[in-house]
Amino acid sequence: MYYRYLYTGFLLIFLILFTGSTVHAEADKDIYKERMALFKKTEALTQIPWHFFAAMDNFERNIKKEDEGKVISIEVPAELWYGLGNSSMIQDENLITFFNGKGKDGDGDKLADPNNPEDILHTIANYMLEYGQTEEDIKIALWNYYKRDLSVQTIMNTAKVFKTYQEINLTDRDFPVSTDYNYSYRSTWGDRRGFGGLRIHEGTDIFAGYGTPVKSTTYGVIELMGWNLYGGWRIGIRDIYNIYHYYGHMNGYQDDIQVGQVVKPGDVLGSVGSTGYGPPGTSGKFPPHLHYGMYKDNGYSEWSFDPYPFLKKWERMVK
Ligand SMILES: [Zn+2]
Repeated sequence: MYYRYLYTGFLLIFLILFTGSTVHAEADKDIYKERMALFKKTEALTQIPWHFFAAMDNFERNIKKEDEGKVISIEVPAELWYGLGNSSMIQDENLITFFNGKGKDGDGDKLADPNNPEDILHTIANYMLEYGQTEEDIKIALWNYYKRDLSVQTIMNTAKVFKTYQEINLTDRDFPVSTDYNYSYRSTWGDRRGFGGLRIHEGTDIFAGYGTPVKSTTYGVIELMGWNLYGGWRIGIRDIYNIYHYYGHMNGYQDDIQVGQVVKPGDVLGSVGSTGYGPPGTSGKFPPHLHYGMYKDNGYSEWSFDPYPFLKKWERMVK
């Protein structure tokens, strides 16, 4: 009898946990759908391709961690929205236009409300439209909005990814070296190292044999390739989470890989080597390994953080 209660108890706990996470996953899917519907509607009204303001929204969400559940994360500065002189922040669209504000009514209630998702997107798309509809025009619009190269670069990259996959719900991941081969790694982030003066180790070293396939861990765009004194043949990918992924000491690159290319988790970038610490082509000064570094951008500055916990997580996801 006692065991039966225990069993029922476990079953109940299991059901609560299981349905709980399912409900959560469904809610996540719904918010992606809701966002996509708003993006498509704004594109139809303004002719600005949806992936540009979707990428801008994504960039802003990555900066504001508390925004996970918000439909649209773009926050237009008050003076830009209402216009200079509209100090009582009157939301009447004509009055905003009179004060040279950018705020627009997207949902047809005659009010330009900076907290209304449709109004925000309509405002941003119209702001872009002032510059034109080509990619170059939108890049200039973004530069004038953020006044920061890295913010523009990240948004343009994300837009390219969204356009390629026609999807904003891109959450797959992969481990950076093929788990079909032998490899080992431990947490080495922050270790001191000798060569090149006083630098701390900004990454995790994954030891594996020459030729072990190196893969993209994320959705992103290849931003950098080529030789570096310390990194050897290296590759840099900026992803859709405002994170830059740095791969060092590679033996070489996969044939079709080039700067500007969109990649997805699992795409082969090249293979493990021991290049670096000398002029181009230097190899074999240390055992073959992949140096994997991660850098986060918060819209103001970029800094290195420990990839180790993420590597552990992605390893569990693919194994
Ligand atoms: Zn390293």
